[in-house]
Amino acid sequence: MGRREDDRNEMLSLLKERGITDERILSAMMKVERHLFVLPAFVNRAYDDTALPIASSQTISQPYTVAFMTQELQPRKDSKILEIGTGSGYQAAILAELGCRVFTIERHMDLHLQARKLLERLGYRIASRCGDGTVGWTEFAPYDGIVVTAAAPQVPDPLLNQLAEGGKLVIPVGDLELQRLRVITNEGGSFQTKEVHGFKFVPLIGKKGWNQG
Ligand code: SAM
Repeated sequence: MGRREDDRNEMLSLLKERGITDERILSAMMKVERHLFVLPAFVNRAYDDTALPIASSQTISQPYTVAFMTQELQPRKDSKILEIGTGSGYQAAILAELGCRVFTIERHMDLHLQARKLLERLGYRIASRCGDGTVGWTEFAPYDGIVVTAAAPQVPDPLLNQLAEGGKLVIPVGDLELQRLRVITNEGGSFQTKEVHGFKFVPLIGKKGWNQG
């Protein structure tokens, strides 16, 4: 077994210890090679359970955060999922491995192009675009799930409007220091919210997010 596979196994054990129980998510995280999504300087730390810097002063999320958000999203094979904040493309790859139809939006052109190229090279068929994800992607709505991987000051209403019946929106909401993850389910047009523990994300910047500083 190669060193990177050992590292991935260790990462998996840690995820299980921390409460990730969905076997499909665990095997997707075993399969996707996170070291391909990080900057060359951080390849040796790719399987540490930590967020790491990527281009444009952004981050690839911590593996536990990716696993936890995906588990809360409860995607099925063929679920139509919108991700806001493509970043490195890692979360999108995990969703594609789960058999989801993935749509992803990134506001930084360099990250969008880099992620698109990598995801294509790895054989994932993902629809991606550069733009402000706080207004969603109406063309393909409604979605069975929407995952926002940046910190929002409040829940953007366009995202609620683009959620299918029974669909879930997973979004960190709070101030710039700390956010709580909200899991909002569309139950027949009424939205049920569950709040789970604290996370720290880079800000969601856009029309329905934070102003650009
Ligand atoms: N999902 C990413 C991954 O797997 O690498 C993590 C990305 S990082 C934590 C959050 C990303 O959200 C950043 O790349 C940031 O540029 C992007 N972002 C922030 N505001 C956005 C917006 N309004 N629309 C789209 N992307 C946004």
